Amino acid sequence: VDDENFDVVVVGAGPAGEVCAGRLAEAGKRVALVESELVGGECSYYACMPSKALLRAGQVLAEAARVPGAAQALSGKLDVRALLERRDQIIHGLKDDDQLTWLRERGIELVRGHGSIVSERVVQADDRRLHARSAVVIATGSCATLPPIPGLAEANPWTNRQASTAEAIPGSLLILGGGAVGVEMASAYVSLGTRVTLIENLPRLIAGEEEQASALVCESLRNLGVEVLLGMRATAVRRAEQDGPITLELADSRLLKADQLLLAVGRTPRTENLGLELLGLEPGEPIEVDERMRTPGHDWLYAVGDVNGRVLLTHMGKYQARLAADQILGRPTALCSDGRLSPRVIFTEPQVAAVGHTLKSAREAGLNVRAVDRPTGANAGASFVGHGTPGAARMVVDEDRRVIVGATFTGVEVAEWLHAATIAVIGEVPIERLWHAVPSFPTRSEVWLGLLEEYGL
Ligand SMILES: Cc1cc2nc3c(=O)[nH]c(=O)nc-3n(C[C@H](O)[C@H](O)[C@H](O)COP(=O)(O)OP(=O)(O)OC[C@H]3O[C@@H](n4cnc5c(N)ncnc54)[C@H](O)[C@@H]3O)c2cc1C
Repeated sequence: VDDENFDVVVVGAGPAGEVCAGRLAEAGKRVALVESELVGGECSYYACMPSKALLRAGQVLAEAARVPGAAQALSGKLDVRALLERRDQIIHGLKDDDQLTWLRERGIELVRGHGSIVSERVVQADDRRLHARSAVVIATGSCATLPPIPGLAEANPWTNRQASTAEAIPGSLLILGGGAVGVEMASAYVSLGTRVTLIENLPRLIAGEEEQASALVCESLRNLGVEVLLGMRATAVRRAEQDGPITLELADSRLLKADQLLLAVGRTPRTENLGLELLGLEPGEPIEVDERMRTPGHDWLYAVGDVNGRVLLTHMGKYQARLAADQILGRPTALCSDGRLSPRVIFTEPQVAAVGHTLKSAREAGLNVRAVDRPTGANAGASFVGHGTPGAARMVVDEDRRVIVGATFTGVEVAEWLHAATIAVIGEVPIERLWHAVPSFPTRSEVWLGLLEEYGL
């Protein structure tokens, strides 16, 4: 075993680990970054990036079909082979060579292997023993949760990994779970020609978002041909042969049969085999952290990204990574955006872009709030983009502080609207001041004007 010394050892080179390592190295720290699979993590190869690549072609085609002049130029159908090739380019053919230059430029030492803590500030990565002078940062991410349904594990279901990298499109697909991953994959696969059935335990899809967003996404998926079963529990799974058809039994005894079954019922932090038990922490559970991403009781140990279970989104993991790096560098900033305040986008058609509270979560948090609603298609800009498509915008205003505490936009191509709302929510811009932030004509951002007028300004 070679003993090697670094300032910081980061375990896991997903977006959170990479950003943390990069910020520390740019500030002159000697950093080791340990990765057991691909530099870039789940996000780059099996999650955010390939899923958006699978969704994009169908959405562009649908938008072109709504624009007279462009619609007439369309002939034929979506080219699945070309779409999959583009997806493969986006995920770099599951190779991480391109990422390595970025690490090299910053002088970060990449250590290939499985990292685990062997004692305070010491990480074992295969046959290398890495000593950290100041801190160890855990950024090992998460993997798909396998719920305890009889027969499920033996049936070898798809997780996000197979769904995002599939080389052949199944004729039929059952999707268990109607959260962000479930609805995005349903949207993608139905556009590729798969017969999709989406099964959700709760009474509505994307249940953490505004009800009108859930309803619009559900209606749109049904219109696209997805069979959506709400309030329905899966009780058993059967698959006679490895690659044969799969049968799902529901609580009402109904049997559903398809070529594949995709699990999208949540994520499990990757904290097994990390040596956490040596520190009195529970393997398999998220690593609890404080507002500065430190693990209570172990001032040298940080956890950023999915592994701490706070907000399972790439941009929030990267934000946490910057906070952790700054703390290690002795220039601490406390967490201002977290949990419900996080911006989030679901890239279905229509998209759901939200930041801060929903009306329900604001009330549950004890805030004195009022919500105002406007359709997203009711201004001049909407004559050109997403024409004739349904959509809804909601702003939730804290009546005591006169600031926006939440905004949700549901509609075609609304993802890029979100940052204006994020600035208003996180910046706590007084609502009277927002009245002077005039949106350009004819952009769809005039929805802001509509919302403020509706509020009574
Ligand atoms: C289908 C899908 C779509 C998604 N779409 C979006 C989206 O559009 N936008 C968004 O913001 N979020 C999205 N997410 C969530 C996003 O993928 C995660 O929040 C993000 O990947 C978390 O980043 P991370 O760095 O914490 O972990 P990960 O990306 O999971 O990376 C962790 C890395 O650590 C490595 N590792 C694990 N254990 C060890 C070990 N012991 N030693 C060495 N290395 C180890 C892993 O190999 C991996 O490379 C999506 C998720 C899914 C499943």
